[in-house]
Amino acid sequence: MADPKGFLNHDREVAQTRPVEERVKDWNEVYRPGSLLPIISKQASRCMDCGIPFCHNGCPLGNLIPEWNDYAYRNDWEAASERLHATNNFPEFTGRLCPAPCEAACVLGINQPPVTIKNVEVSIIDKAWDNGDVTPQPPERLSGKTVAVIGSGPAGLAAAQQLTRAGHTVAVYERADRIGGLLRYGIPEFKMEKRHINRRIEQMRAEGTKFRTETEIGRDIDAAKLRRRYDAVVIAAGSTTSRDLPVPGRDLKGIHFAMEYLPLANKVQEGDLTTSPISAEGKHVVVIGGGDTGADCVGTAHRQGAASVTQLEIMPKPGEERNESQPWPTFPMLYKVTSAHEEGGERIYSVNTTHFEGDEDGNVQWLHLVEVEFKDGKLEQKPGTERKIPAQLVTLAMGFTGTDKENGLVEQFGLELDERGNVARNAEFETNVPGVFVAGDAGRGQSLIVWAIAEGRSAAKGVDRFLTGASSLPAPIKPTDRALAV
Ligand SMILES: Cc1cc2nc3c(=O)[nH]c(=O)nc-3n(C[C@H](O)[C@H](O)[C@H](O)COP(=O)(O)OP(=O)(O)OC[C@H]3O[C@@H](n4cnc5c(N)ncnc54)[C@H](O)[C@@H]3O)c2cc1C
Ligand code: SF4
Repeated sequence: MADPKGFLNHDREVAQTRPVEERVKDWNEVYRPGSLLPIISKQASRCMDCGIPFCHNGCPLGNLIPEWNDYAYRNDWEAASERLHATNNFPEFTGRLCPAPCEAACVLGINQPPVTIKNVEVSIIDKAWDNGDVTPQPPERLSGKTVAVIGSGPAGLAAAQQLTRAGHTVAVYERADRIGGLLRYGIPEFKMEKRHINRRIEQMRAEGTKFRTETEIGRDIDAAKLRRRYDAVVIAAGSTTSRDLPVPGRDLKGIHFAMEYLPLANKVQEGDLTTSPISAEGKHVVVIGGGDTGADCVGTAHRQGAASVTQLEIMPKPGEERNESQPWPTFPMLYKVTSAHEEGGERIYSVNTTHFEGDEDGNVQWLHLVEVEFKDGKLEQKPGTERKIPAQLVTLAMGFTGTDKENGLVEQFGLELDERGNVARNAEFETNVPGVFVAGDAGRGQSLIVWAIAEGRSAAKGVDRFLTGASSLPAPIKPTDRALAV
């Protein structure tokens, strides 16, 4: 145990962010560089090394949190990194981006602010990279078996790294021009700088994983050819079909899916474009959808110089404290102020969009909305509450409805879908087609990075067993596992 009195002597502290007026002028991560290390030993010392560490259960990866808290407290960064990597291939992604269900489940959280687990995690991995402790781990011998991974988001990358290290020859196919999935082209630079993905890719290349970009399976290579070339396939193609808003005026110019808007802003940061063809500069921006994707649109619009930013959410404003239906250790749906919200804009809850209004050139100018309320479990409009707000750029961030069905992938493989339109799989993450596995959002539906990594690791075990008859790879989750509300 780090320090028996740590939680009595130290209050919870978290990473400091840079001042709003400074950070909205650039795209770098919002955190103040170096603000974590001075506090980390004290924060790690608050961990009580619980007999039953509920943080393990809160984390889909089963992260060994008390063990690495103890090493971080003792400044043994190498051992802390080893324990961290024992369960997580990419802690620099989760340490920056995870909503930290482990903290919601932390025992200290029953009557005190929980341990600062996520900040300890990111400190350990950043230190490990700085110290040169993150090195390639190529396999000692090759199995002679080959695996194709379709999709290079966190699920595909985790599966590929596990399978490469197990000795299989793995190629990752990605239809985009760069590796990373939503980490690369969804999540903006100010939440995670892409250099973190790039150095992982270098590590994976050095271990032997091959990457093929700008290759869409189903279009550029058909499923039958892929199956002939590889002994097993992992589909990690994400849940990339955006939910639409079919209301009058939807076809006006200036209304875009979030995943049309965000990738272009990311391409500017990659140096591919000088300015984004869909820019918020000088415009009244409305973001429809109150989740993470919406918040990323808000932060992007601030940096592009929007005249105003309004985010709409159909559900009521969540509470700021746990209520009886969301007791510890569940992950509560609380009112969240993300870094993008700190930077400005307005959030309007319990409203629905009825239609858009444009000018004579077909450009959107106004969004008409109405207040809504739940009555007997049904959403009803409140009469007399209709109004319009200025909207010269609208982004639709209302979630995703499943993996892409247009490119032939599902049809060509002959994959069965579940009742929610995701690729169905058994307890080994294998689809109805023997030797074809599925991991991440493609199988689970729209979710989180931590679940994608856990799925990639677990599916890798299924693949390894399929190829060799047995596997010693870890499998942190089953396809049916769900953390409460995450
Ligand atoms: C804007 C946004 C912000 C988010 N922010 C967070 C956050 O802060 N924290 C968090 O935990 N989660 C966040 N999420 C969710 C998280 O990013 C996803 O749950 C996670 O990336 C899913 O990983 P994946 O590997 O299953 O799929 P993806 O990351 O979607 O990757 C799938 C990849 O497959 C490729 N692909 C698809 N079809 C083919 C094909 N036929 N051939 C070749 N390649 C193909 C796609 O181009 C894509 O690169 C966010 C999501 C979005 C959209
Ligand atoms: S539940 Fe909290 S206090 Fe207990 S071991 Fe996990 S991080 Fe430490």
